[in-house]
Amino acid sequence: MSTSLLYHAFGIRGYDYVRTEYSDGQVIFTIAQDPHDCRCSACGSRDVISRGHVERQFRSLPIGSRTTSVVLPIPRVECSACGAVRQVKVPFADPRRSYTKSFQRYALELLLCMTIQDVARHLDVGWDLIKDIQKRDLSRRYAKPKLKHLRHIAIDEIAVGKGHRYLTVVMDLESGAVVFVGDGKGADALKPFWKRLRPSGAKIEAVAMDMSGAYQAAVRANLREAVIVFDRFHVVKLFNEKLSDLRRDLYREATEVQHKAVLKGTRWLLLKNAENLDEEKDEKGRLKEALKLNESLATAYYLKEDLRRFWEQPGKRFATTFLDGWIRRAEASGIKVLQQMAKTLAAHRSGLLAYYDVMISSGPMEGTNNKIKTMKRQAYGFRDREFFKLKILAIHETKYALVG
Ligand SMILES: [Zn+2]
Repeated sequence: MSTSLLYHAFGIRGYDYVRTEYSDGQVIFTIAQDPHDCRCSACGSRDVISRGHVERQFRSLPIGSRTTSVVLPIPRVECSACGAVRQVKVPFADPRRSYTKSFQRYALELLLCMTIQDVARHLDVGWDLIKDIQKRDLSRRYAKPKLKHLRHIAIDEIAVGKGHRYLTVVMDLESGAVVFVGDGKGADALKPFWKRLRPSGAKIEAVAMDMSGAYQAAVRANLREAVIVFDRFHVVKLFNEKLSDLRRDLYREATEVQHKAVLKGTRWLLLKNAENLDEEKDEKGRLKEALKLNESLATAYYLKEDLRRFWEQPGKRFATTFLDGWIRRAEASGIKVLQQMAKTLAAHRSGLLAYYDVMISSGPMEGTNNKIKTMKRQAYGFRDREFFKLKILAIHETKYALVG
């Protein structure tokens, strides 16, 4: 072993090589610092008196399948300028970390194509240590995204963990990046966002959200100029829920075995867009049979398909006529879920029509929500809430395998 190998292979420079030991399949290098080379870690003064040392061991890069560690007695010195006793700086490791910076870099490189679990197993360290390395890296890159450029955003809540725990997510609709993750849902969850947004000087023009009203007042109060759009993604989602409810009720009420059989398994067919029905699986035929059987289901289905045209109108005037017509037909249908839907849409009319002022939708949020769901299903998913939030902030950009 030479000092140049220490430097070139292990990223450790400026120390004397002392010895190498082999124990339990591990390679341990002991190094030492030249006592004449000690400085005060606070003020940098060389006018110091030796006050012993503290021995520490750092995990270092493996040699093939062998793990390696570096042992260094860290000198403690009394500084005559500061009048205090301190350990000298260790340039090859971050403060309070039990591994070298090159070990950290190597772990981060592996994390680009391996899960935390895999990297921990490969490097023969605990899961928590690798997680800590990734968490600090994610924090450095993503904890405080720039907000100045924000123009169009979407705000949405996602359910995480058990027992109705929620996070509130703000997305930049132009880049698809998540720019804020707040605890809980509703106005309170957004408070830290407004606090960071104000000094950024961002001029947000439009906000997409659902019709629940959870964020509406908060946005009105904090972004007076912004247009609120109750977006297509959420309207369709709400309608699909109503349609599922209706189908379930009908299934429950169906007395004939044959009717039950036809309704069974049609839920996904009802929610699919008509043009996506699979001919080969005879989805069209099966749906048609179910609709033939039940008039209210058929009416609801056709009104669902028809509502999609609201977002395909040539302009606001046409859209207004279309929406009002749709609401009238839904009201006149006599079907409870459709009447509820009509009432909701009528109450949010101007926010729905606002789409024709600023054509935004939370559509990109759907992909992100799906990724978050996958992360959540992981065994360690939500145990460390801050880590989970950082992973959401990083979802759009990071190359890390965030699940696992
Ligand atoms: Zn000093």
